[in-house]
Formats: sequence, C-alpha cells, structure tokens
Amino acid sequence: MDFQKLCTFETFQRVWSRYGYGGNLRDVIEQEFTRIKGITYLDHAAATLYPESLVRDYSSDISRNLYGNPHSHNPSSRLTHDTVERVRYRVLQHFNTTPEEYSVIFTSGCTAALKLVAESFPWRPQTESEAGSRFCYLTDSHTSVVGMTGVTSGQGVVALPVSPQEVENRAKDEAQGEDVICQTPHLFCYPAQSNFSGRKYPLSHVKGIQARRLYPACDHKGHWFVLLDAASHVSCSPLNLQHCPADFIPISFYKMFGFPTGLGALLVRNDAAGILKKTYFGGGTAAAYLSGEDYYVHSANISDRFEDGTVSFLDIIALNHSFEALYKITGGMHNIQQHTFGLARYTYMLLSSLCHGNGQPVAQIYTEGQFESPSTQGAILNFNLMDSHGKIIGYSQVDRMASLYNIHMRTGCFCNTGACQSFLGITNQQMKRNLQAGHVCGDSIDLVDGQPTGSVRVSFGYMSTFEDCQKFLSFVAECFVEKPVTVDQVKLEKLRATAAESQGSNEDSTIKMTNGEIHQADETKPTEASLKGFGHTDSNSHGGAYSLTDIYIYPIKSCGAYEVHDWPVGPLGLLYDRGWMVVNGNGVCLSQKREARLCLIRPQVHLPSNKLLLRASGMDTISVPLESSPQKHTSYPVCQSKVCGDRVETVDCGDEAALWLSDFLGQPCRLIRQSPYFTRDMKKKPSGAASSSSSSLSLVNEAQYLMINRASVELIQKQMSSRQDYSEGDQLLDTQNVISRFRANLVITGVEPFEEDNWSHLIIGTTRFVVAGQCGRCQMVGVDQDTGTKTKEPLMSLTAYRDGKVTFGVYLTHQLPKDSPTGSVLSVGSLVQPKIHSP
Ligand SMILES: *Cc1c(COP(=O)(O)O)cnc(C)c1O
Repeated sequence: MDFQKLCTFETFQRVWSRYGYGGNLRDVIEQEFTRIKGITYLDHAAATLYPESLVRDYSSDISRNLYGNPHSHNPSSRLTHDTVERVRYRVLQHFNTTPEEYSVIFTSGCTAALKLVAESFPWRPQTESEAGSRFCYLTDSHTSVVGMTGVTSGQGVVALPVSPQEVENRAKDEAQGEDVICQTPHLFCYPAQSNFSGRKYPLSHVKGIQARRLYPACDHKGHWFVLLDAASHVSCSPLNLQHCPADFIPISFYKMFGFPTGLGALLVRNDAAGILKKTYFGGGTAAAYLSGEDYYVHSANISDRFEDGTVSFLDIIALNHSFEALYKITGGMHNIQQHTFGLARYTYMLLSSLCHGNGQPVAQIYTEGQFESPSTQGAILNFNLMDSHGKIIGYSQVDRMASLYNIHMRTGCFCNTGACQSFLGITNQQMKRNLQAGHVCGDSIDLVDGQPTGSVRVSFGYMSTFEDCQKFLSFVAECFVEKPVTVDQVKLEKLRATAAESQGSNEDSTIKMTNGEIHQADETKPTEASLKGFGHTDSNSHGGAYSLTDIYIYPIKSCGAYEVHDWPVGPLGLLYDRGWMVVNGNGVCLSQKREARLCLIRPQVHLPSNKLLLRASGMDTISVPLESSPQKHTSYPVCQSKVCGDRVETVDCGDEAALWLSDFLGQPCRLIRQSPYFTRDMKKKPSGAASSSSSSLSLVNEAQYLMINRASVELIQKQMSSRQDYSEGDQLLDTQNVISRFRANLVITGVEPFEEDNWSHLIIGTTRFVVAGQCGRCQMVGVDQDTGTKTKEPLMSLTAYRDGKVTFGVYLTHQLPKDSPTGSVLSVGSLVQPKIHSP
C-alpha cells in the first residue's frame, strides 16, 4: 500500500476521533502562532509555544498598571500583592485544589523546586542504632530528581533507585503496610510522565506509597512522603490533586504555556509543609529575626516562608494571561490531552508500520505500551531510525536532516539517563566507556561502536496539527527509507484494532476536570429575602434623643452610594449592599484606593423591576438583573483592606456590564456578584456577643453595617475649620460631603461625639444590633465622593484629634429573631436605643 495515501486525515480519524477544540484550529494558528509558518515544531516537551495574544495582553497590562514590590504597603505594591495572590489561587484551581489543601511556592522552575525539597526535607542519617531516612526514586527520572542524591548522600541518607517494573510488581501485591509507630521521614519521587518516553505512571501510586502499600514500604517503617514530578505531565494533561494527594509537586510554567520562562512552582500539601526545615532565610520569609544573634522565627504563611527574596512578580502576573489564553483557545486541559494524544498515537502507528523496500522496519520506537490510552501515554514519541540492514542511524544525522526540512525536534538523552540506558540497553560500564570515548551529555557523538548513545524525541503541544504529523512522516519516508516505501499491513491492522477497542472504553474513563473549567451551576433559586410587608413603618417617632437620619447602600463595592428611606434587612446586612464588585483584567478587585473614579458610578437597586441600574455622568444607563441565573462560576479572592485572601464565590454579570465599566474606567473590567449560594463568615466575633452565632458577610471588608454619628462628624468639621492649613487647595467641606466620605450605611443623630465607641448593643426601630468594633480609617476618606478628587482632609484633622487610633464609626452585626429572620425593615426616622458597655 502507498504510504502517502495512508497519511490522510481519514486515517487519522479512524485512529482517534478527537481533534481540535471546536473551532478551526488552522485559524487559531494563523492568528496566534504566525511565527511557526513553514516550521514543524515538534519539541513541545522541551518548551511549548505561547500564543501572540498572551504577550499582547500581558504587555498592555504592565504598560497600564503600576506594579510595585509586593513587600511594600503602598498602593502599587498592594496591586502587585493582590494580583499575585489571585494567580496563586488560579494555579491551585487549575489542579483542582484549594488553599485549604495546598500552597503554591513560586520558584525559578521545576529544578529549583526539587532542590528546595532536597535541602529542606528533614533527612535522618543512617546510624548504628537507626536505619535512617530513605530517598527512593524511579530510575526513569529527570536529572534534576537524581541530583537530589547529591544532597542526601552528603547527609548519610541511603538512596534507592527503583525500576518501573519493581514498582509495578509491588502494586500487584497490594500488601498492606503494617501500622507501626515510626516517624522516620522517607521520600519517594516519581514522574507523573516520563520526559523520555511520554509514559504516564499511575497517579494511584501516590496513595499507595503514602499508605506504605508499595515498594519499599514493607522494608522501611516510617512516614512516606511522595514527590510527584509533574513537569512533563502538566504540559498536555490535567492533574487532579483531589485524586492524587502528592505531598510535593514541582512544575515549570514554560512547559505548560511557553511564557513566562524562569518561573515554576512547588505545590505543597499543607499537611506536609510542616516537616520542611528552613535553613537559609531570605527577605520576606521571616516573621522576626535578629541581625546580631542566632534568632529567626519563620513566617506562618507557607508561601512566604519558602519564597526567599522578592518573587518574580511580573512573571507571576504574566501567568494570569497564560491561563486566560490557554483556556480561551482550548477550553482546558482535558481537551488538550485528547487532541495531543491523538496526534501522538497516529504518528506512533504510522511510524511503527513504516518499512524499507526490503520489508525491514524503519523505526525502533522506545515505548512500554502501544499508545492505548491518554491515561497511560502522553504526547511524546521516542525512537531511533534504522537503515534497511537494521543498523541504527545516529540521531545527529537525523537532527541535521530534520533542520533542512524545518522540522524542530530533540535528540540525545533528554536529561534522563535512567530511561535512556534502560530503553537503549546501555550498561553502566558502557556509559563510562562512552565517556572515555569522548561522549558527554549534549554532544553530537551519537554512535559509539555502532551502538546509539541517545535517540530522537518528537513531542506535541496543544497547537500541534495533523499537518505537523504528516510533514514529519513524509520527512522520514523521503530521507531515510530505502525505496519503495512499504507498510507493514499486519502490524498496522493490529494496532488499529487495539486502538479501536481502547477508544470506545477510554472516553469515559479519562478524568474529567470540573474545577478551573467552565461548568454549569445548579439552577436552584437563591433564598431571597422576603420583600413582603415592606413599607414605611411610622411607629417610631422623633421623640428620643437618638434617631436614624440616613440610610445608604453601596450595591457595588467601592462605587457610589444609593440613598434610601426604608430598606429591607437581608441575611448579610442591608439587602443588596455590596452584592457586586468590579474586578480588573486580572480578576483583582478594584477599590477607590486604586481607582477613585469608582465613586462616580452611581448604582441603583430598583426592586419593582428586579434590576440593578448602572449610572454615571456621560454614560447611558444600563441594567443587570438582581438575581441572574449563574452562567460562569468562578472564585475570586476578595481583597480586604488588611488581610487579603478571603475567598468568595462569584458570578460574572455578562459582557454588557463589562463593556460599560471598561469604557467608563478606561481599563478592562468586569462586574461580578457574590454567588447567592456562598457564605463568607466574619473574622472577628463581636465582643460580648454571647448569643450571636457567626454572621455572614457580603463583599464588605469587615462587617455587615457601618454606623456613624452626626455629632462626631460635626466635631471633625470644627477641627477642620480651626486648622490653619486647610485652605491650601482644600475647600471647607460641608456636612453632607464629610458624611459621604465615611461611606456609612447608617447615620444617626447622637448627643456626644464618639459616644458610639462605648456602645455594646443597640436597637434601631425594632431591629437589634451588636457593636462589632470600631472602623479604622485610611486615605480612602480623602476621596471626595462627588468628584473623585483627593484631599488631605478630613484624614488630617481626624488623625490630629484622635491621637493615634484613627477610627471613625462602628461596625454592627444584626441579631435577627430566630423565628422570623426575614421581614425586618430599617427606616429613616426610627428611634435608636443604645446600650452602653458595662464598665
Ligand atoms: C523539564 C523537566 C524537569 C526540569 O525542569 P526545568 O524547567 O528544567 O527545571 C524535571 N522533570 C521533568 C519530568 C521534566 O520534564
């Protein structure tokens, strides 16, 4: 049969049915990868390619935003810090885990992550009385893993290389490791995917080793930790840490995205992080230390503790664009795995049945299996070519010819001597002889005495195409096959039959990732606060000394206030108060500290039509539904003024609102709202609130309600007018202007300024509240809420008057009656009854 006729897309489809990502892959390449025109790039296992939109989006991000050192506390460094935290979260989400389970330690790459583990693992040396720690690693490991023995051997720790067969045999035994109390820590390292052959080792081994069911658990009592080298695996496959809870997972990001380079991570299971010992301490890792004494207390945060010095923060920010582009183009790792596996299987089947005119096979392929399934084989093909007499053609010659054809691939031993030796049958003695013959890693001495010193590797990436396979196969046929080109039909048919068989079964057995990829949320209706019986209650007269004079809600966090007269109390505070927020292009929450113009956006909640109106001067008013059916569920960390990292589930409000906000604010933004199914609890419990159970929060920073006292406002006004220097630019601020800057929900008339600081409880109308603390103030009160301009007052006067503790107003938490938690309404004019702290 004619080989060229075999190399068709029809053949491909009979071999594997999944190709591409829904749209036209050719268009994507035309738009995103113009630089590979005319080139067949087949070295994705070494470094994959980044799409052009990634660098464009990244470059406009860092041109527009001011990113400072994340260790400072000024606004530009807060922006960096919050963006980096958001990326950390995104990394965890990609691997289907959460900050509760794992931490991300950014490193310069996979190798640096491995070195970190080697240097901080609490190795126990072998002594006469104690067996000590074991360092076990699969022989099919990258140099950077084997290099850990350089650390262990120096510490008297026994290193045990194990072959894949040994592990496989132990796995069949299923012998249960007996439970013995022995805390000697041991480490087992294996690659999730071999960077040599693309073989995937079972992820189930992780639990097996931890439970001491696998080699060499039976022989060595103690606590086995697992390091899963995922560097090669994650480039084209999903990794679900819910299913394989490895303790340490090193990765390099350029292998996933092509950009940024010089950035990797060690994912650490939080439970295992505690055993790692910190020796060197660089900037940012310490909670405290003395420069003149041996005194160092490490930071409580795992990431901080192990990130010596300043992280490569611009690269980390780039990572956000890398994720964005990858998901946009492919829809996620599951799709990438399906697509790239198909290319590898097709190439494998054709290359293995390709023969010289005399019937001799052309390629010797180094693989354990037969590319049965994407769960056992990745998108890598490793081989040597042979002439018609069965003699190996040196890889350097293949490489040179490939360059002529603009085909880029990798040759040599791929930093994996273990796999190289085992597949090519090179003994240790021969390795040493090869060195004597002048062959060193990375050179072009491909044959010694006719025996290969290495091989050829082709590997695929998510943007690889069927045409790439075709070009490669034609190249082999043209350059290295003695004509006429023939095909081993029997072999091909056999492979095809196994493929057909496995294809049916494996579609379902492949792991489906839900997290990090778009998924539909339940359509259950949110529990809506009952709006029935909502009307003006005028049972409260103005008779008392204290009364409620104003009610404001801030539907969108950090945007303008919406003044109301009567308003329902919802489960999280005033209904719809801080129900929405604006996030920037990196998903980081915007606040007035970052973007003062936010206050010019004046959202209104229109209950009768069930709509949130977005209004701003010079803009058409648009609306979004108050209770939209969720389309996209994503988690964003809510950035708080002091502690960042509190997470909320959010729902995107769609493109119309996003465009409106981006237009008004002049940077890419989106409107998101808190998912109605999500509850976020208050961090500090109200003091003396014995009866109140935990209270839930909206997107506010601290507490459900903020209340201020007009008497305190007037006092600050007096302070301002008595100060001499207010005149330099600052106008005298009227009462309403000052009130608006404090962004309270509730304004009351008090008798004495700041007397509210001493209240423990209060009742407004019929609703009971606990005072949850005082509200600390910052430069935010300098933003004139009418114009978005910044002034020094009233912060200057407040700071001068309050003498150190700059607080203004108090936080409140409601106490709703258990039998009717909904139905309360707050009204302007209601009586306020305070209860003073008992001394
Ligand atoms: C690439 C790779 C490494 C080393 O990664 P660097 O980015 O060079 O630090 C380690 N292990 C495996 C399996 C790899 O594929």
